[in-house]
Amino acid sequence: MVGKFRNEAVLDFNVPENKKKMEDALQYVRSQFNREYPLHINGKDVKSGNLFTSYNPANKNEVIGTFHRAGVKEVDMAMAAALEAFESWKIFDPEERGIMLMKAANIMRRRRFELNAWMIYETSKNWVEADADTAEAIDFLDFYGREMLRLSERQPLTSNPGEFNKMIYIPLGVGAVIPPWNFPNAILVGMTSASIVTGNTVLLKPSSDSPCTGYCIVEIMQEAGIPDGVLNFIPGSGSEIGDYIVQHPKTRFIAFTGSMEVGLRINRLAAETSEGQIWIKRVVAEMGGKDGIVVDSEADVEAAAAGTVAAAFGFQGQKCSACSRVMVDESIYDEFCDLIVEKTKKLTVGDTTDTKNYMGAVINQASFDSISKYIEIGKKEGKLIAGGEGDDSKGYFIQPTIIKDIAPDGVISQEEIFGPVLAVIKVKGMDEAMEVANNTIYGLTGAFFSRNKEKVARAKREFHVGNLYINRKCTGALVDVHPFGGFNMSGTDSKAGGRDYLQLFMQAKTIAEQL
Ligand code: NAP
Repeated sequence: MVGKFRNEAVLDFNVPENKKKMEDALQYVRSQFNREYPLHINGKDVKSGNLFTSYNPANKNEVIGTFHRAGVKEVDMAMAAALEAFESWKIFDPEERGIMLMKAANIMRRRRFELNAWMIYETSKNWVEADADTAEAIDFLDFYGREMLRLSERQPLTSNPGEFNKMIYIPLGVGAVIPPWNFPNAILVGMTSASIVTGNTVLLKPSSDSPCTGYCIVEIMQEAGIPDGVLNFIPGSGSEIGDYIVQHPKTRFIAFTGSMEVGLRINRLAAETSEGQIWIKRVVAEMGGKDGIVVDSEADVEAAAAGTVAAAFGFQGQKCSACSRVMVDESIYDEFCDLIVEKTKKLTVGDTTDTKNYMGAVINQASFDSISKYIEIGKKEGKLIAGGEGDDSKGYFIQPTIIKDIAPDGVISQEEIFGPVLAVIKVKGMDEAMEVANNTIYGLTGAFFSRNKEKVARAKREFHVGNLYINRKCTGALVDVHPFGGFNMSGTDSKAGGRDYLQLFMQAKTIAEQL
């Protein structure tokens, strides 16, 4: 009997003991910099000899780790190992698989500060953001472990006289798990653990920007008892080996989280049947967002401003759920703009190993350049009222930027920027607010601030996003509290961290036996 699922609380770093442990972990992880990491295939270290490097975005010349890069040969090795391991893993007691995830959750609790430190260095998260990432990863392990216990029980069916009937969930096969860098622990763990606990075996290709965090997870899974060949770690360039993995005839499913462009490519390639392939590949793709907050004339303007600033600039705006457009009723527009500028000016930017800095660097040079380009476009489309500056001399730092008077169809109102840039759009009344709220190709998260119950009810009906928040910010989804996934070009609405999620990694078999 295992206890009920409970969300892991985020640590309070004002507690001196937690602060000290975090400082020690940062020091320890720094002492581990510049190691060389192998691939991990069939329980063994594999070296391809072809190396790539993970850098610290806040100190761009600092090497975090060097990785052997998988090529076609290593993908084939991993696929062979995963296919072989599948034969025994698929019939492994599902309950035991679930328990292994809960063991992994406990190992992660033990290594929590260290994991946070890897993310602080590798992705420039601040301490709280890093710890929230680890807490979410622990939640996924604990929750999916318990979910597997539930799904391995007898499923309810209507009986047919003279027959014994049952329906069981069985795994799919070998899956490719392709996560992004922005939740290098939680999203990687969520997609990987869901794949494994349901009896599949996995080729895990971490993001090239956060492989060290990925490597720690593989160590944790091994320690938890996941057998050789079940989880194969093949870091490498998505643009070099991604298509090969996706098109491989033995790939049964792809669990992807990342940009719309890559997600659509995967979806297209997976739909084509490769020679020797005998199934329709399943694609679970969670993609980009252009998430908006609507501030109605009857909103608590102070609360809306606080929620908008937190959602826009937490982790440098690099969350798929980050608020990047805010639609504000004309009657409170000036007051709201003043408030968000005032709050934003208090935000600190710099190396997040130092807790005085709330925002760190953006992930890499390409990202810095792309965000800077959008800021220039935004300056032409509207009026800059905060930030607008970047400095990539040491790390990739960009000031939290707000541009107001943006037209609903402006570039920075429509395209995902994935950085600390907020477009403010003036709207008049509820009709226009709802129209503009839904006028992008995405549909991931959104928030609506109003004290008017009828307007709230209307927003619940009309605001077309996978995760809608009322009178609170649009970031910070919790496992099994806010199952997460988006509509339209934001993806397949898989609802990660929800009770329907594991079924995406299984197929149901119905057996009717004549008595
Ligand atoms: P990305 O560039 O699309 O990369 C995501 C993953 O795909 C990486 O592991 C990448 O490998 C790999 N990849 C690249 N090209 C590939 C190909 N042709 N075939 C297969 N895999 C390929 O996204 P990102 O920059 O890491 O993450 C940011 C994006 O993720 C944003 O758009 C954000 O909104 C989205 N996101 C969505 C959610 C959600 O739940 N909806 C959550 C988090 C993030 P390399 O690193 O080697 O290129």
